[in-house]
Amino acid sequence: MTLFTFHGDLPSLLSRRYRPGPRVELLLGRRASVKDAVEALGPPHTEIGRLVANGREIGFEHLVLDREEIEVEPLRPPVDVRTPTTLRPAFPDIRFIADVNVGKLARLLRMLGFDTAYRNDLSDEECAATAERDKRICLSMDFRLLKRSRIVHGRLVRESDPLAQLREVVELYHLAGQMRPFSRCLRCNNLLEPVAKTTILSRLEPLTRKYYDAFERCPRCDRIYWAGSHREQMDKIITALAPEQP
Ligand SMILES: [Zn+2]
Repeated sequence: MTLFTFHGDLPSLLSRRYRPGPRVELLLGRRASVKDAVEALGPPHTEIGRLVANGREIGFEHLVLDREEIEVEPLRPPVDVRTPTTLRPAFPDIRFIADVNVGKLARLLRMLGFDTAYRNDLSDEECAATAERDKRICLSMDFRLLKRSRIVHGRLVRESDPLAQLREVVELYHLAGQMRPFSRCLRCNNLLEPVAKTTILSRLEPLTRKYYDAFERCPRCDRIYWAGSHREQMDKIITALAPEQP
């Protein structure tokens, strides 16, 4: 038998038959990696921050032994994906891909300026492939998607309200100091570019034309942004997330 102990909120991710945890004894009939063994009990590998077997830190590929005691610890904030760990290689930058079940979260992350790939018709296969190719952190509420080995960094989003989800992600990855609000197109994730008011005058409503002088444009979809659009709502959200931000 192998004894697994799940720490933090990981017991809540155990499959029903192994709940409430936090300790689960398992007889493994064949040689299994610790990644496969833990995922068979419930939690996706993305949720694990550290693994210790009989007091020694191990990687996902470690083959589980009989009479071994394995401690399974959760990811603990702040998680910096740009620093390698025993479990995962580093990613060059903080970039996300959002699964179809967290679309509103994707839009909020874009509002804060974070590169967030999202399409509402993305299959699990495409989502995992994009996460691997672009080295993106995968955000999802789907256990099965996050168990795919092509996904290296990810988060099983715990909250259901989009604003609470945003707070969850901002806190986990310590994003408060890295926001660049209003720098990205909400529709297609592209960085916005300044555009001269004179060149878009005919596209503006009379009041917008009268009260605003600074405009930005998405080079991909041509949508125009200015201080009045979305900004008041977002200012409140940003202030709530990071009181030290202006
Ligand atoms: Zn756009």
